[in-house]
Amino acid sequence: MTVMLLPYPLSIMAKITLFWHRRDLRQHDNAGLAAALQLGHPIVPLFIYDREILDQLPSRRDARVTFIYNEVERLARQTEQAGGTFLAYYGRPLEVFAELLRTYKVAAVYTNEDYEPYAKVRDAAVAELCQQHGAAFKAFKDQVIFAKDEILTKSGTPSKNFSAYRDTWLAALRDEHLQPYPSADLFQKSNLAFLPDAPTRPTLESMNFEHYEQFVPAAELPTDDLVRNYHQTRDRPGLVNSSTRRSVHLRFGTLSVRQLMRQAKELNPKLLAELVWRDFFMMLLWHYPNTATESYNPRLRNVPYRNNEEEFQAWCDGRTGYPLVDAGMRELNQTGYMPNRVRIAAAGFLVKHLLIDWRWGDRYFADKLLDYDMSQNVGNWQWMAGTGVVAAPWFRVYSPQSQQEKFDADLAYIKQWVPELGTTAYPAPIVDHPFARQRAVDALRAAYQEAGM
Ligand SMILES: Cc1cc2nc3c(=O)[nH]c(=O)nc-3n(C[C@H](O)[C@H](O)[C@H](O)COP(=O)(O)OP(=O)(O)OC[C@H]3O[C@@H](n4cnc5c(N)ncnc54)[C@H](O)[C@@H]3O)c2cc1C
Repeated sequence: MTVMLLPYPLSIMAKITLFWHRRDLRQHDNAGLAAALQLGHPIVPLFIYDREILDQLPSRRDARVTFIYNEVERLARQTEQAGGTFLAYYGRPLEVFAELLRTYKVAAVYTNEDYEPYAKVRDAAVAELCQQHGAAFKAFKDQVIFAKDEILTKSGTPSKNFSAYRDTWLAALRDEHLQPYPSADLFQKSNLAFLPDAPTRPTLESMNFEHYEQFVPAAELPTDDLVRNYHQTRDRPGLVNSSTRRSVHLRFGTLSVRQLMRQAKELNPKLLAELVWRDFFMMLLWHYPNTATESYNPRLRNVPYRNNEEEFQAWCDGRTGYPLVDAGMRELNQTGYMPNRVRIAAAGFLVKHLLIDWRWGDRYFADKLLDYDMSQNVGNWQWMAGTGVVAAPWFRVYSPQSQQEKFDADLAYIKQWVPELGTTAYPAPIVDHPFARQRAVDALRAAYQEAGM
């Protein structure tokens, strides 16, 4: 590897390429990074702790921020060991780029695509700023296998039917879609820019965040055995290795989705199909950004939700008197994780039994889940509420008791989180299931009829 020691003052230095990491905190198998490294200019990897996002967080004790910080520092150490500079800032991206483009001779800013509504606006503004400074801005497909407009219906519209989307997705899949990008190799062989005047990287303390770690499995593939058995274990939250637990790594890109897909394709079609849901919800958020904040189905935009704050609090705290729901909420509060089957039970209970607006639940999960991802969270919440682009029938109301009997018959999961079950310390159900079921169906039917569309 050649290390370029660039002369100071910077006005006479060579042009550089900035590679902006966001949802892709890894060097290996990184589409945008591989492309940046092939441009030929000395490269400087960059991360921005975005104040527009971080300043909105309800707590300065957030395990996701510590996770990101640890991963950024790992990337920075890798770059420094190779003789280069890794830039990191705590600020607003547009202001950071204005400064970078003034300070350095930037040939190009390369990055990977991000489909969230805020990210689209942010990236368009950064691209325009780059253009004003004569720097190229390019974003690559990296977080999904098929990009937002690669799998469309015959009439060229986004698919609103998951089965049809999945079938087209599977038919279009070729080995090349899952090929790893040689970014880690290229990184070792490339010119890295060393910037002697680079500012000190922010620390958690300097950003006013506490160090707070939660358990996250290693950013490696799950074992082949786990993947082979996945279809039999995924709905049994009481098992130790029930599902892959890789969602947090897919969220922050510490594991390449292509790598996990290759394993799933080889060993378990069910896991592959679950990963296709992930692509699907990402695509939907891109095409329907308004679904982040409002129900997709116009007939269900005026459901007379009860939004009872005390009941909402009981749900948040895991005190509803429905053990599966309570176990899930307690696990979420204590660890930042909840198994998929339990998310379904907890979300269904909130929107149907308590008739609380899905956006309240979406917000609570957003604050708590380590793997929080807007596209996945909104997609799944709107599915559960019956309001989404794809949605469970609005009149479907799962019985939490039957769910418990079906998925945690021996109470292996529930007992971990609700040890006082069966004693007087455990609350009685806050609402009767048959009553709540009827109330939900009546309210949703009334909303449908009133919308009159
Ligand atoms: C109300 C609700 C909210 C959710 N919010 C999120 C969220 O914010 N972030 C998130 O990543 N997932 C979310 N999910 C989907 C799913 O619950 C998690 O992806 C899964 O539980 C993570 O655990 P795992 O990695 O062990 O999953 P596994 O079962 O091992 O699945 C492997 C991967 O497939 C994908 N996947 C699995 N199930 C789903 C699904 N239902 N929808 C989309 N992708 C799926 C995920 O990327 C997951 O990591 C939500 C589900 C519900 C019902």
